Amino acid sequence: MSRRSPDPAFGQGAIGLADGDRAWHAAAPDTVVESTVTAPEGLSQAEAARRLAAYGPNRLPPPKTRGPVRRFLAQFENLLIQVLLGAAVLTAAIGHFTDAAVILAVCLVNAAIGFAQEGKAEESLRAIRDMLSAQATVLREGKRAGIPAEDLVPGDLVILEPGDKVPADIRLLRVKNLQIDEAALTGESVPVAKGIEPVAANVPLGDRASMAYSGTLVTYGQATGVVVATATATEIGRISRLLAQVEPLATPLLRQIARFARWLTVTVLGFAALVFAFGVFARDYTASEMFMAVVSLAVAAIPEGLPAILTIAMAIGVQRMAQRHAIIRRLPAVETLGSVSVICSDKTGTLTKNEMTVRAAVTGENRYEVGGVGYAPHGGLSRDQREFLPEEDPALIAMAQAAALCNEARLREHAGVWTVEGDPMEGALLAFAHKTGLNPEVEARHLPRIDVIPFEAEHRLMATLHHDHTGSAVIFVKGAPERLLTMCATQRAAGETTRLDPDYWHRAVEHLAAEGHRVLAVAMRPTHSTHGELRFDDIDHDLTFLGLVGMIDPPREEAASAVAECRSAGIRVKMITGDHHVTARAIAAQIGFANSRDVLTGPEIEALSEPELRRRAWEVDVFARAAPEHKLRLVEALQAEGHVVAMTGDGVNDAPALRRADVGVAMGVKGTEAAKEAAETVLADDNFASIVAAVREGRTVYDNLKKAIVFLLPINGGESLSIVAAILLGLTLPITPLQILWVNMVSSVALALALAFEPTEPDAMSRPPRALREPLLSGFLAWRIAMVSTLFLLGIFGMFEWAIVKGMEVAEARTIAVNTLVVLEVFYLFSVRYLRTPSLTIKGVLGTRPVLIAVATVVVLQFIFTYASVMERFFDTRPVAFQDGAVILAVGIALLVLLELEKRVMAFLRSRRALR
Ligand code: ATP
Repeated sequence: MSRRSPDPAFGQGAIGLADGDRAWHAAAPDTVVESTVTAPEGLSQAEAARRLAAYGPNRLPPPKTRGPVRRFLAQFENLLIQVLLGAAVLTAAIGHFTDAAVILAVCLVNAAIGFAQEGKAEESLRAIRDMLSAQATVLREGKRAGIPAEDLVPGDLVILEPGDKVPADIRLLRVKNLQIDEAALTGESVPVAKGIEPVAANVPLGDRASMAYSGTLVTYGQATGVVVATATATEIGRISRLLAQVEPLATPLLRQIARFARWLTVTVLGFAALVFAFGVFARDYTASEMFMAVVSLAVAAIPEGLPAILTIAMAIGVQRMAQRHAIIRRLPAVETLGSVSVICSDKTGTLTKNEMTVRAAVTGENRYEVGGVGYAPHGGLSRDQREFLPEEDPALIAMAQAAALCNEARLREHAGVWTVEGDPMEGALLAFAHKTGLNPEVEARHLPRIDVIPFEAEHRLMATLHHDHTGSAVIFVKGAPERLLTMCATQRAAGETTRLDPDYWHRAVEHLAAEGHRVLAVAMRPTHSTHGELRFDDIDHDLTFLGLVGMIDPPREEAASAVAECRSAGIRVKMITGDHHVTARAIAAQIGFANSRDVLTGPEIEALSEPELRRRAWEVDVFARAAPEHKLRLVEALQAEGHVVAMTGDGVNDAPALRRADVGVAMGVKGTEAAKEAAETVLADDNFASIVAAVREGRTVYDNLKKAIVFLLPINGGESLSIVAAILLGLTLPITPLQILWVNMVSSVALALALAFEPTEPDAMSRPPRALREPLLSGFLAWRIAMVSTLFLLGIFGMFEWAIVKGMEVAEARTIAVNTLVVLEVFYLFSVRYLRTPSLTIKGVLGTRPVLIAVATVVVLQFIFTYASVMERFFDTRPVAFQDGAVILAVGIALLVLLELEKRVMAFLRSRRALR
């Protein structure tokens, strides 16, 4: 839709926009001249809307998905189905047209089920991917606003900050220490420095330092620039048109199972050939009889529906996680989440609400309590429980002024509700300033900001430079108290500037922090009005310490129960925060951390040797004053001890730790695009409880995969054992090949599909996490499969022989055998729904909607199969008498009871073993 300018001639002055008459000209560095339209305050909303209509949304076309026909045909890319189709052709060739038609019909029904379910799964995954749309910060009509990156148009002024993903191709106009990681475009992973100097038109992409390209990541600094190309006209748009592909729904486990299924198919086919030879030469069956028998053996033995059902179970897991606010970006995370053994979580906003309120302020002489709730600028100050007028303490006012001006946030009121635009902590400072009687906007007019050192987690401070209108200037700094104390020489007390008393302040910090406050310090330094650019050298010495503020940030209500749930699930939770260690400890205790006393700080982590860190990383649950690089070391230390680690993060510098973790979890609201790109999972609500919900869903998915396997394999086992036994012993087949086909491709698939939708088992979060490399088929499951296969064999054969002994003809006895098989399946489904815990509970017996739908479908189909005359023609069935039906049902119930007994015996043995 959108077009690139004919010649983005960087060197010649013109920065082309799509249409020549609306262009910016960068005549020389720093002097950006507007030619006709885009003014320094950005586009007007009307103009932006007009351009959006003209150029289309700033979005790359979605990767091509398979069309319905391709998807339907893909259902036949299955060796077994191909063998069956071949068998249908052969059967027709030898004149058995009915049989051929039945084989074909059954293949079609099977493909239709797969087609419909896979379609739904793909659709929901697409919808989930769309939830992660990028945002851009633009300047329109002089106002800074966050808009969906899709709405950007050529000519928009875009503001770039660390962690942002560049939303379009942008000619930079103003930069401050800008560095961009262009790996997405050039493959070069070292960030490159950007500037505004024009470069020659023909330099390669990697050297175009005055441009920021769509899809690359801002790793450092700030910039403003003008959009010159959007959507497919961008450099990344050109590449991705070539690369666009849908990620297949595959995880290591699914691939492993698909390999197993292929191996099994080939083995079974080989075995079937041997049985064929045996039957024809050793048992005198005719070749055509034996042909159908081995086809049915193949169908009986191969779990054809399994891979599709497992894929669907995975997709449903992803969907359920999204409903619980955890958006999966990379599918293997679904599996890994289920085996997470340690969750390392940020504090602010994840375990706490990130709704800050200043509750206390400490100056060189006094401590004040601050009233009011939320961000509303209402509330008074008190000292020693007596109301206090702020203007009585100039140090307090100076502190509030610094806090209000060294600030990027804005407070907004709507219908009496006050909210923050920007960092909640800074919003709290604005509300505090109001409460001391200052109006931050008026203050900003008196002391306009000239420059800023933005907040970075590793520096833990922010500084601003202001000039007033009378020729003087001042620097304000706010940040972590212990950091600021090293930068100050003096302090303000009783209207005077005196020597800094670090002990006094350290005591005050400890005191505030022990009450659970987040503590922030403010400082200032006068400077001269020729000072135009703020550097670190300007603020690292001789500042005057103004005071401290203590803020509360209440824990999220659900955090404590989520932490407790982790404890019962054998998952260790660790808090990694940039906050003060005393604050961190107080909050950890409020949330109920197992070990909140023992705190390790960032500097202490640095001092530890590798083996010591491994030990301490496991022992300690609270890490304070930690920077992003400490997160990386902690992940590595925990992984070295064999743990499966989930790690949260939001900033651009958290990306390495997120990437390194087994499951990187980025914050959807607070997080930068860089963090989201690096993470496997994004939390739509930044909430710790959502990680735990995702882990629970991860365990559920894994359980459901197991259930589908444990359900299908014994059915295949029982059926094939029956056929092999009949052939080897030279007996009549208890079930005909076509009947086997019916059961396997229709009844079994319909029933097994219900397992993909199973809810979480009651004990899912009260058992320890499984090992990442634990084989899917443990000894326990192998035993279950072998035992149930045998029971199925006995059921099928027993009922067939029982009917024959009762004097029924073979066709009638076979109908009874098939119905027995299906009834056994239905009862086994109820048993398998709870692998270890009892199924005979009210909840277990009532089932779930998908289970009931599946059972009802199978029952109806089975009635048609047994009593409809067309079915008699195709499958050679006979109506079954009511009393015989009752016996069949009794066999099913007996199976369920037997399996329940087995569960209890196993549980008893497990508890005995545990006691020993
Ligand atoms: P988390 O718990 O999620 O790691 P955090 O907010 O505790 O987050 P950071 O955001 O890294 O950690 O902040 C660390 C410290 O930096 C804070 O305790 C505070 O002292 C200081 N700080 C935070 N935000 C600002 C800011 N906007 N301006 C100045 N200093 C800040």
